[in-house]
Order: sequence, then C-alpha cells, then structure tokens
Amino acid sequence: MPSKVIVQKYGGSSVANVECIENVARRVVDSAKKGNRLVVVVSAMGDTTDELLELSSKINPSPSEREMDMLVSTGEQTSCALLAMAIHKRGLEAISFTGPQVGIITDTFHTKAKILRIETARIKEELKRNKIVIVAGFQGISTALEITTLGRGGSDLSAVAMAASLGADMCEIYTDVEGIFTADPRIVSDARKLRYITFDEMLELAARGAQVMQTRAVEVAKKFNIPLAVRSSFNKKEGTIIMEKTPYIEEPVVRGVALTENEAKVTLCNVPDKPGIAARIFNHLAKEHINVDMIVQNVSHKRMTDISFTVPKSSLSKAIKTSRRLSKGIGIKKVIFDENIAKVSVVGVGMRSHSGVAAKCFSVLAKNKINIEMISTSEISISCVVQKNCGKRALKVLHKEFKLDKIKS
Ligand code: ASP
Ligand code: MG
Repeated sequence: MPSKVIVQKYGGSSVANVECIENVARRVVDSAKKGNRLVVVVSAMGDTTDELLELSSKINPSPSEREMDMLVSTGEQTSCALLAMAIHKRGLEAISFTGPQVGIITDTFHTKAKILRIETARIKEELKRNKIVIVAGFQGISTALEITTLGRGGSDLSAVAMAASLGADMCEIYTDVEGIFTADPRIVSDARKLRYITFDEMLELAARGAQVMQTRAVEVAKKFNIPLAVRSSFNKKEGTIIMEKTPYIEEPVVRGVALTENEAKVTLCNVPDKPGIAARIFNHLAKEHINVDMIVQNVSHKRMTDISFTVPKSSLSKAIKTSRRLSKGIGIKKVIFDENIAKVSVVGVGMRSHSGVAAKCFSVLAKNKINIEMISTSEISISCVVQKNCGKRALKVLHKEFKLDKIKS
C-alpha cells in the first residue's frame, strides 16, 4: 500500500521551548515510523513574532514593510531548523526549508501576502528520499523575489495550502487546545469538545470571535475540500475534524456559540432618508479599509433615520473621523459611538432546516433581562449586540438553552 502523505502544523505554543520541540520531534518520528510521509509546517517559537514586532518598534515606529517581513520571517526559520536537528538526534532523516526554498510563491503585498501557488517539486523529491520535510510557516517569496509573510496566524494557511498543493491525505493542526469547543471553555465551564464541525460553521464561529484557526486557512481548506484535524500537541486525545459534511445523519441545530468584545458601535443620528446616502457612507468607510460588520437602519420619522453599525475597535477612531467628515456634506446631525458592547452569536448548519432558533435566542436573553441592541442573521447564524457587561452571561445562557453542554463529543 502506498504510504500516506500527511501535513502536520505545529503552532507557536507547541514549539515554545526546547522541551516542546523535543516533544514535537517525538510525535513526528512516531508518525513517520508508522510509514507516513510527512511535511511538517512550524510557527515561530512561543511569542517570538510579537517580540520581533516589539523590537522593530523600538528602532523605528513605522518600519518599511519589506524589512518587517525580512525580520519576522526569521522566527519560523529558527524553529524549523531546530526541529530538524531534534529529529536527526532520533536517527531519522529530516530537512528544513524556508518558504522561498520550497517555492511558496506569493503576491507582492508585504506583511499580508496571498499565496499564488506552491511549487512542490523539491518537497516531493525529498519525500521520495524518505526524508521528513520541515517547512517554515507564515512565509513565502513574492513574484518580485522578495520574502513575504502571510499575516498573523499565517502558518495555518501555509499548512493548508501545502496540503492542497501536495494532494495530501490529511492535514493535522496541532495547537495548545484539544480541538474546537461548543464555546470558549475559559468562559463557559461546561463547554464540550466537538468531534466534528463543518467548514461553514467554523468560518462563521471564527468570524464571530472563536479564535482557534486562522479564517483564511479554513477558507482554503473548504475550497479544496481538505478535512482538517485540530488536536493538542500535548496529549494523544482525538481532537475535532473540520470537514464539508459531518457524518451525522441530522445536524444539530446549533453547534456552537461565540462572543467577541472587540467591536464598537457607531451611530449616525438623523440621517436624511433618501436614495444614495447609505451607499455614500459605506463607500467612504470601505475606502478607508474599515471592516463594517452589522448594520441597522431604523424606520424613518419625518424623512430622517438613524444608522448604526459595528466596526473592530482598532478601526473605531478612523470610522468616527470618516463619519464626522461625511456628516457635514450629507447633513447628518450627530455621530456617537459606544465601545462597551459585546456580540454573542449562535451558529449551526442545522438552522437551515429549523425555524424558531432566533425566537429562542431572543426569549432566553429576555428572560435573563439582557437587552438586545442590534441583531443580524445569516443562513446559519444569529448574532446579537448587547452591553459589554452582559456578554459573558449571554454566552452562558445561550449555551445552556441550546443544550450544548449535553452534546456528545
Ligand atoms: N508566527 C506567526 C504569528 O505569530 C505565524 C503563526 O504563528 O502562524 O502570527
Ligand atoms: Mg504564532
């Protein structure tokens, strides 16, 4: 039987120090000894990337993006070489590579490059020679022959793109959590680990605050239909498989709940209610690269209306400035904002075929005297903005209401 090609990715916390790297080497060797051909993608050790960013800010508060990529890409180069050495010590053949060496070709957008293609010839050659191939995650080489990085958390993307390009049998993501949970276990103590979750649910949860995998990586996995196994590198427990369709005959209506406290609400008061105004406002925000999430427009009174929207807190000052600048021209009376909000969401593909989920959400929040300020829905999710000091409580009561504490993992 031909051996399986497996791509494994180990995150920063899994290679944080010598002991962790030795642990990863043991796991890689075990898997290789079972006859698998392995490509191992690694992140930088622990908080290395943050430390490098901090270092640069001490030298120059607005460094060139090219030099930033030169700098932060070194983190992954360190960990992949060390892992190769740890495997050599165990008597197996391994070879480490930077992204450019194995032809991870990207566009030219420094610090947030997109992968265009991966030239897999060199990797395949080394695999044929029975070597374990270790690749530095998070980086590539641009069409202009410069080193680029893929944005924070980009090693996930490196691994998934690698699995897609190699036509790998499996892509395993090793991290410091045991898998995907029905809610953040640090907030909801009886959150359950899920055995399976669909790509769509994972994307929806990630967009709404769950922070296990990089969203772009899940998008690529979905596009190429590559199941992802998310597991802890610190134990042997089965993790969660993210896939197109779970093996269940009927999907649970709700698979998970998420909370984010990273958004703020902006309200434009007394906006003239006539065609073209919303287009103008949101075009300007888009031009400033402000990512608007929820939008609510009230019914108008005397041809005036209020429009509220949420933005990441990091874009709030830009959003206010842009809105205030616009308000004079358009005749908007006032721009106000609120940073003390939280957004809770319930997510599940089962919602497609079940009604009453929204009603159930609103009822349980009402029963707990939690006021809903904004609502948005998609085919598989419902989100509510509430006051920040109610966010965690809202998450817990929703988790209970949908019996996620009873889900079989
Ligand atoms: N080291 C990079 C970061 O911390 C990439 C990664 O960890 O995936 O963002
Ligand atoms: Mg990292």
